[in-house]
Amino acid sequence: MNDCIFCKIVAKEAPAEIIFETDKTLAFLDINPINYGHTLIIPKEHYREFHEIPDEVSQELIVVISKISRAILESLKPHGYNIFTNNGRFAGQAIMHCHFHIVPRFINDGFKFRPHPKSYRKDEMQLYGNLIREKIKN
Ligand code: 5GP
Ligand code: ZN
Repeated sequence: MNDCIFCKIVAKEAPAEIIFETDKTLAFLDINPINYGHTLIIPKEHYREFHEIPDEVSQELIVVISKISRAILESLKPHGYNIFTNNGRFAGQAIMHCHFHIVPRFINDGFKFRPHPKSYRKDEMQLYGNLIREKIKN
């Protein structure tokens, strides 16, 4: 994936403010932060979306996400924080190398998710539960 900016950051061919790294992961500051300190955590290997990442790599990712969250809380003292990953163009993914965002949040910082929540009709919740449960693999 030699045209991938995040692969270039991993290879140190592109600059980034690196926060932390392990064998399989890298954490660096987002270049256009939602709030200052907004950090991205990526697998060093190129995977497009979260479900493609092997479990041993996602396990390392989640440990690093915890570690960086604690560091952001202690250093920047935000009032809260969001952790999210956008998977696929229609979910808002712009960089096609899977990444987790950690965004420190402050009172009245102006950043809003604006969902339009739906309601389930009779039996629909069980139907959706069944659809998903049937596809869970070991
Ligand atoms: P997405 O919408 O794909 O979830 O988010 C991509 C994020 O990557 C954006 O928040 C954007 O600011 C950040 N980003 C894009 N290009 C670069 C870059 O070259 N360096 C860094 N550090 N962040 C980047
Ligand atoms: Zn990549």
